[in-house]
Amino acid sequence: TVVLKFVALDPCDERFQREMYERTVRDNLTGLYNRAYLLEQIGPLCERNQMRGLGTAVLMIDVDHFKRINDAYGHDAGDAALREVAKTLRDSTRSEDLVARYGGEEFLIALPISSKEQAIERAERIRSLLAERCIRADRLELQVTASIGVSCSTAGRPRTINSLITTADLALYEAKRAGRNLVVDASKLLAEGQRRTECCDALAI
Ligand code: GH3
Ligand code: MG
Ligand code: MG
Repeated sequence: TVVLKFVALDPCDERFQREMYERTVRDNLTGLYNRAYLLEQIGPLCERNQMRGLGTAVLMIDVDHFKRINDAYGHDAGDAALREVAKTLRDSTRSEDLVARYGGEEFLIALPISSKEQAIERAERIRSLLAERCIRADRLELQVTASIGVSCSTAGRPRTINSLITTADLALYEAKRAGRNLVVDASKLLAEGQRRTECCDALAI
């Protein structure tokens, strides 16, 4: 048995409830979704994509040398820069994408894709938009870049959320290692690792 209760809220109450809800799911510095909400929604997003015959890409984005901005211009300028980065990410995504502040100066975007190439293209576009855009923080004009790790599941080969995020993170780490302001595809990294293991095995023989 199901009991339903209908309550007619007056517009003021309704606004209050909506505001309370928004505060629990959004990061208050950038207005993007917070990590908890992202982790709750990414599974359902992957399932919806799967049902539409699409894959899912995870883009792990980390601002390069962000500590230097704080050190050189102060924490408030750093905050303003993070808000601007978030705005660029919001402007370059669609309503069906999930865009979240994953922590500190790290952001995660999950999006439906029909191919891995499409994911890399989107990541490259975001990377170049960030690098080209002059960020206004207080009265300063700053230039920031970001490194991006990309990991994908395809319609025919779904993967766990954990594996998507972990491998995107590994690819991000590689982008940092390779010089920053770069997009790294996790599948290439894994294939390279596999080749190296096979090579080492062959040499051991
Ligand atoms: P890398 O290119 O290797 O990512 O270098 P990085 O300097 O960006 O990374 P690191 O992890 O050394 O420093 C991150 C900095 O981000 C340190 C921390 O104080 C700053 N940070 C994290 N959250 C915030 C925030 O909300 N506001 C401000 N202003 N700074 C933040
Ligand atoms: Mg960083
Ligand atoms: Mg970081």
